[in-house]
Amino acid sequence: MILQIALDTPLRRVFDYRPPAGFVGLGSNPTPRLGVRVRVPFGRQQLIGILVGVASESSIASAKLKTAIAFLDEQPIVDPVTFDLLRWAAEYYHHPLGEVFAAALPVSLRAGQPALQRTEWWSLSQTGRQELSTPTPKRAPQQRALLAWLEKRGRATAGEIGEAFKPAQLRALATRGWIRSEGVEPDLAVMESRPSEVVLTDAQARCVAAILASLSTFAAHLLYGVTGSGKTEVYLRVIAAALAAGGQALVLVPEIALTPQLVDRFRRRFSSGVVAVHSGLTGNERRDAWRAAHNGQARIIIGTRSAVFTSLPKLALIVVDEEHDASYKQHEGFRYSARDLAVVRARGAAVPIVLGSATPSLETLENAATARYSKHLLPQRPGAAQTPRIRLVDLRKHAADQGLSTPAMQAMAQHLKAGGQVIVFLNRRGYAPSLFCSACGWVAPCAHCDARMTLHRRAQQLRCHHCGAHGAVPAICASCGQALNPVGQGTERVEETLARLFPEAPLARLDRDTASARGAVQTVLDRVHSGEARILVGTQMLTKGHHFPDVSLVVILDADQGLFASDFRATERLAQTITQVAGRAGREARPGEVLIQTQFPEHPLLNRLLTEGYEGFAVSALEERREAGWPPYSRLAMLRAEAKDSIGLDAFLRAAVDSSRSLNEAAAVKVLGPASALIARRADHYRAHLLIESAARSTLQRFLKEWLPHVEKLPGRPPGLRWSIDVDPLEVD
Ligand code: ADP
Ligand code: ZN
Ligand code: ZN
Repeated sequence: MILQIALDTPLRRVFDYRPPAGFVGLGSNPTPRLGVRVRVPFGRQQLIGILVGVASESSIASAKLKTAIAFLDEQPIVDPVTFDLLRWAAEYYHHPLGEVFAAALPVSLRAGQPALQRTEWWSLSQTGRQELSTPTPKRAPQQRALLAWLEKRGRATAGEIGEAFKPAQLRALATRGWIRSEGVEPDLAVMESRPSEVVLTDAQARCVAAILASLSTFAAHLLYGVTGSGKTEVYLRVIAAALAAGGQALVLVPEIALTPQLVDRFRRRFSSGVVAVHSGLTGNERRDAWRAAHNGQARIIIGTRSAVFTSLPKLALIVVDEEHDASYKQHEGFRYSARDLAVVRARGAAVPIVLGSATPSLETLENAATARYSKHLLPQRPGAAQTPRIRLVDLRKHAADQGLSTPAMQAMAQHLKAGGQVIVFLNRRGYAPSLFCSACGWVAPCAHCDARMTLHRRAQQLRCHHCGAHGAVPAICASCGQALNPVGQGTERVEETLARLFPEAPLARLDRDTASARGAVQTVLDRVHSGEARILVGTQMLTKGHHFPDVSLVVILDADQGLFASDFRATERLAQTITQVAGRAGREARPGEVLIQTQFPEHPLLNRLLTEGYEGFAVSALEERREAGWPPYSRLAMLRAEAKDSIGLDAFLRAAVDSSRSLNEAAAVKVLGPASALIARRADHYRAHLLIESAARSTLQRFLKEWLPHVEKLPGRPPGLRWSIDVDPLEVD
């Protein structure tokens, strides 16, 4: 018997080993089950890998075959559907299987800690019973009391015994053999859902009914509801029903730190078994959450991207909230889409999946249009809340003070006076995006990137947002010695301007700079919720699902960044951002208003968004995609590479193109490039890519499978060159 083992190495292959010496089977199985962990020798170290296959022979010469050291599990480390999902993902994203497993498992499990948390139950042994029935009352009354107590209870944990007796008694009885322990895996947590006070609207009730009609089968549901329309209430209802029969639910969210309210809402609705997994957990917390999911103590797992790999043996339903969010896509290493994998997982587990969004991705809308997904609409906010009124402010016509136009200032003053809160959105952090010499035109550059340094005034630093380089702020121009001026607006500068214009209104700022400390996000959100902060300035972080009842005005300072970008998804992202930020206004009793500042008020995208909403925008955006042959009407992959030597980099990519010419699928696939990345040099590395395009997913997959082994073996690559493949890339520049 040969064990095929996936090891956490960058090599795209599995490794053959002989079973451990003296191996006679695991538990009652003569062959080990796939998915168990195995410790093996690897070079001069030992590694822990996952058993992914058993074969009768190996292509490795028998003398060279090494022997595995030990199995770490009797049972697979993940449920069977997740095991298949991981293998599928490794194939689909063309990523080494061992690294895929490593991405799925918490560090401590990768390091060999037990996957199951067993509870030791103590009960009387045969001799313990005999002892209890012999009348020897003088000896060790405490021990006899414990025996009697235990007989009455049947079994107890060490913890329970410890509450009533001294630990020494327990040890003494165990040493005498009067009591014995048995490891038992915990049962599924009992979960009760508390009744909700809200009465579902008709639209919500229809969604809930449609989703529940598909329980126990695979079905993908798009829940397309404007922000604040009650999608979360729908999730809670379907989860309560789906779990009544004893199942588990997986809820994926873009970012937990930003939406503590969502987790709170789940915890309030369900009595127990709600577990949140996110990047803020310590290693042990993460391991415990994982175990709780794996052994059924956790009934609802709420997590970010990587939670899609959580072992959930009783999975009954998946929810992906804000399914359009770019953070579901991993941007480095194993570049998977958690949203897409969630659908694959739901199909594998034969359970329904709910994809919720106010601004669904064009891919998902297309899937709904072709009836692969069923679409359910929540067109209105329940109760008194109304969809906000949106206006464009023409920046060419109105004077602006540090980026803030007069109409925006007036509207802010009005809303603040009426007791409302105001959100000011700008997707650029720092003080100013460049430091400029008006005498000679010099702009402070990053020494390591083809990019400008951003001025961070409070920190008194210039920082590069692409490579992280930072330095002191120069006092004078490096080229001519004149004074330098900060040009453009970042959130820090907007905060300063607003403090000057509205000295009475306390400010809060939310961006990656203010959110870096642990708990900082919560502090900012608390200040907004309590009403203490009247104005909230921030970036993209503001768009994610927050519910601020008193926000009545949203000002979008600069809509123009996304209008003319080169990436074909830029307009989709802009429309989503505008709609999402706008959705923060008027979520309860106060009517909402949204102002969008732009230099291009006649731009068709902005106008369609205003007149026809996101839905209207999406229809014409999909039409454009169809004409241009972009996804979802084609399939893409990107081969990205970077090296210090730009000539060698270019030669490598050209050789990669050449090596594709003779392949079977070459005629059905276009390989475009090499082209430089948008930031052509980052952290001293030149970056370029090839774009691979095909009409069909299967063609692209066959092509990559054939092509990548050639790319891997291309000779003469420059030292330090790194390359990667990105299937279904979200960004193509
Ligand atoms: P979404 O998830 O679509 O942003 P939520 O589910 O958070 O929307 O609902 C927005 C607000 O409306 C919440 O305060 C929620 O309690 C409330 N709500 C949801 N459904 C109803 C309903 N049927 N009746 C009254 N209020 C509701
Ligand atoms: Zn100068
Ligand atoms: Zn840089």
